[in-house]
Amino acid sequence: MTITAIKGINDILPNAVGKWQLVESVARRIFTNFGFQEIRIPILEKTELFARSIGESTDIVEKEMYTFPDRNGQLLTLRPEATASVVRAFIQHRLHLQPSMRKFYTIGPMFRHERPQKGRYRQFHQINVEVFAIDDPMVDAEVIYLLLVFLEELNIPDITLHLNSMGCPDCRQPFRQSLTSYLDSVSAKLCSDCQRRRSTNPLRIFDCKVESCRQLVAKAPVLMDHLCDDCVDNFQSVKDHLDSLGVSYTIDPHMVRGLDYYNRTTFEAITPHLGAQNAVGGGGRYDGLMKTLGGPDLPATGFAIGMERLILLLDEQTDVETGPNRLFVACLGEEAQRRGFGLVQELRLRDLFVEMDYESRSLKAQMRRADKLSVTHVLILGEDELARGAATLRNMETSTQEEIPLEGLTEQILSRLKLSDQELT
Ligand code: AMP
Repeated sequence: MTITAIKGINDILPNAVGKWQLVESVARRIFTNFGFQEIRIPILEKTELFARSIGESTDIVEKEMYTFPDRNGQLLTLRPEATASVVRAFIQHRLHLQPSMRKFYTIGPMFRHERPQKGRYRQFHQINVEVFAIDDPMVDAEVIYLLLVFLEELNIPDITLHLNSMGCPDCRQPFRQSLTSYLDSVSAKLCSDCQRRRSTNPLRIFDCKVESCRQLVAKAPVLMDHLCDDCVDNFQSVKDHLDSLGVSYTIDPHMVRGLDYYNRTTFEAITPHLGAQNAVGGGGRYDGLMKTLGGPDLPATGFAIGMERLILLLDEQTDVETGPNRLFVACLGEEAQRRGFGLVQELRLRDLFVEMDYESRSLKAQMRRADKLSVTHVLILGEDELARGAATLRNMETSTQEEIPLEGLTEQILSRLKLSDQELT
């Protein structure tokens, strides 16, 4: 029996990889311009890191983590998200003492045992952005703006920005009471999960996917109406900064996000094109997390973008860079094959994409392969040409060809292909 990959954990084949590389390179370029530095964190962490940060009663920690004891019996988890790890790394390496390191991004796979469907997988990839130790609504606005600029640069259509405020411990405590009394009044109609959440973590009820609970939640009191004066001012200031950047948004008081650590401004970029999996990216402020994880009491904000959803939304026409000029060397006959083999290696060392056929097939078969590789030029090394001391260079785009002497062939090819590179740009 053949072995296949695990359900919900997908290969990314070479014909799809171009879009991934495009997304990554646009992210690196834009995030760098916004002052972010890349950080690379491990995929495996101690389980308690996620249990303590994401929250014991969230769906992620309760139902979705890939957790197992290693050979020493230590409980480990494949990371379900990146923020906790970036915070851990910041604390562990005492980066708060290095003012040049405040803004980070990271790109990589995450693991959640969810029910696989379009836009939802068990291994998926995120681009994460985190800002530490800057407590100003301007930073919230900048992070949100960065998310939108990035999506716009990739031509992701019809994105709407949803905003909410999760308040602070001062306003959340009294709000919990009013939410709990509402939930008590409708408790008989709640699903069994929500019955339990009512006492453990009532805010999580806003996450429930059960239709009857959703209807009840639509009538529940919302935190937005219970914010303390400071949180109201802070949220207003974030909105003012967004207004000044020309960003439009929808206030969504029912959006709570799936993780417990958020406070104050939270946001999601929503698409109408992916059915139920409508969030392309989301994030918010999480000022308490650093302290909860044993670090200094420093504020933080950030977001995560789901790369699979981005790729699904990328325009089919999106130009995936295939590189500049690409050459195929077609050889006919043993001597041509031998010389061609050496020439191919030489040109590759001079930073050119070059491919050849190793199987001595007909010119027609080799031209077919050249076509499949979307090369811009084919160099034909045939017996007749060799006898004349020349080779033929065919430009596939213009269908013109010219004969080039074998003497100084490498330089001749490079000068022609690099020259047309410059013409192309
Ligand atoms: P979260 O970490 O839950 O806030 O998710 C941030 C983004 O990651 C979402 O907006 C999605 O784009 C993406 N995402 C989350 N879970 C999955 C999943 N199971 N499969 C694919 N993408 C996901």
